[in-house]
Amino acid sequence: MIGLDLGSTAAKMIRFEGKIKEWRIVKSYQWKELVPSEGEICTTGYFRKALPNVKSITEITAARYGTTYFFPDVEVIVDIGGQDTKVIDMRNNSFVINDKCSAGTGAFLEFFAEYLGMSMSEMGKIYGNAEKVELNNTCGIFMLSEILSKLVNGYSKEEVISGIQWSCAQKVASMVPEADKIAVIGGVAQNEGIVNMLSKILGNVMVPEHPQLINALGAALYGNK
Ligand code: ADP
Repeated sequence: MIGLDLGSTAAKMIRFEGKIKEWRIVKSYQWKELVPSEGEICTTGYFRKALPNVKSITEITAARYGTTYFFPDVEVIVDIGGQDTKVIDMRNNSFVINDKCSAGTGAFLEFFAEYLGMSMSEMGKIYGNAEKVELNNTCGIFMLSEILSKLVNGYSKEEVISGIQWSCAQKVASMVPEADKIAVIGGVAQNEGIVNMLSKILGNVMVPEHPQLINALGAALYGNK
């Protein structure tokens, strides 16, 4: 079974046959490269309807199937993607989504990483002394001028980046209900700083192997049902 997560930023593919056999990640507009010439497919993700005539499930269902494969007793799933953040409470079958504001999404971090001339993985490793740089604006656009003012006034690039990541983590954490078993998935779960900060705010969070592929895995598992 092939699970295809046609996300708003990245397209992900997993081939699952009893275990994960193969996986690939490309940019969202390159998704056709991931479609196999044969084999059953189940899609999920924002653009899941782009491939017609195959089984397709919402990202919420995919996240549930994919995450419980690794953490069967997870209580809350936090999916931080490129354009939105979703928080699913498994205990009462509810979810909240932030897709209106870039703060607390990968797009927010990417905007500043690009502005400051670094990759997302480089940025993710810088998170010390976050409390030193207090950023009051949560809006990306307004935050840019606040950041420039910090840099002009002598804060280091590293301090400012920590502050940006802290602000993003706080925004995400504000959506998360209290729970003992919280899992973080989605591309941004690869950001060490965000995960570390979420653990500080929410208590230890769990991150599965290949967190960006969890919804593709969930689609494959659902497709196999
Ligand atoms: P979507 O499903 O909405 O397309 P994903 O869950 O694929 O989103 O996540 C995409 C986001 O993950 C992007 O904003 C990207 O910058 C971020 N990302 C990808 N790889 C990394 C990494 N190694 N470190 C930090 N962030 C990453």
